[in-house]
Amino acid sequence: MNIAITKLTPVVTTGPLPASTKVLKAGAIHPDIRVPMRQIALHPNSGEPPVTVYDSSGPYTAEGAAISIDAGLPHLRESWIVARGDVEVGVITYKIAAHAAGLAKGHPAEQARDGALSRARFEFRWEDQFNLSLDPETARSMHDETLPKEAHKVAHFCSMCGPKFCSMWISHDIRAEAQKEGLEAMAAKYRDGGDLYMPVENLRSDA
Ligand code: SF4
Repeated sequence: MNIAITKLTPVVTTGPLPASTKVLKAGAIHPDIRVPMRQIALHPNSGEPPVTVYDSSGPYTAEGAAISIDAGLPHLRESWIVARGDVEVGVITYKIAAHAAGLAKGHPAEQARDGALSRARFEFRWEDQFNLSLDPETARSMHDETLPKEAHKVAHFCSMCGPKFCSMWISHDIRAEAQKEGLEAMAAKYRDGGDLYMPVENLRSDA
C-alpha cells in the first residue's frame, strides 16, 4: 500500500488577538528586560477594567514581527548562555550520573569503560585517558595547563605529584623489582622483615 506523504505547512497565529492588547512592562531591577503582558478588555457593560495576564504568545503576536518557522527564533540569549558555561557543566553532570547508575546496575559497557580508563592511567597513555573520560576536552585542557608539550602525553607522571613522587610509577618500579626477585620472595621479605604485615597480637586494643 502506498501512502502519499504530504508536507503540511504549519499555521501559526500572528498579529493582535481579539479584545486584547499586548503591553511590555519593564522590570524594576533590569529595566532593559521587558515582560510581555496582555490586557484583555471586558464587555463595556461589565463596568470592570481590563484583566492583565502574562502573555505567553512570544514574538508571534508582536507588532510587525516577521515569523519564519524554518528559521526559528532569533538567538538573542545564545552568547549569554554560552558565556555562562553551565549548559556544558549540566550535560557532563548528567553523563556522570548516568555512568554511576550504569555501574550500580552492573552494566558491562560501563565497567569495561572504567577498566580501560584504569589501564590507560596505569600505563600513562594520556591520550587514551582523555578520550575515555566523560569530558575529554576538560580533561585534556586541565592536563595541558601545566604540561602542554606533546612529550608530556607519554610522560610517566603528571603535575599532581610530579616525577619524583608519582605513586603509579613507583608501583611500576616495585613491580619490576618484584618480578626480578620473584613475587613470593618479595612477599616473604615484607612479611618477615618489614612492618607491612603486623601480627595481630601487636595491635593495641585501644587503637
Ligand atoms: S603524578 Fe600522581 S596523579 Fe599524576 S599520574 Fe602519577 S600518581 Fe597519578
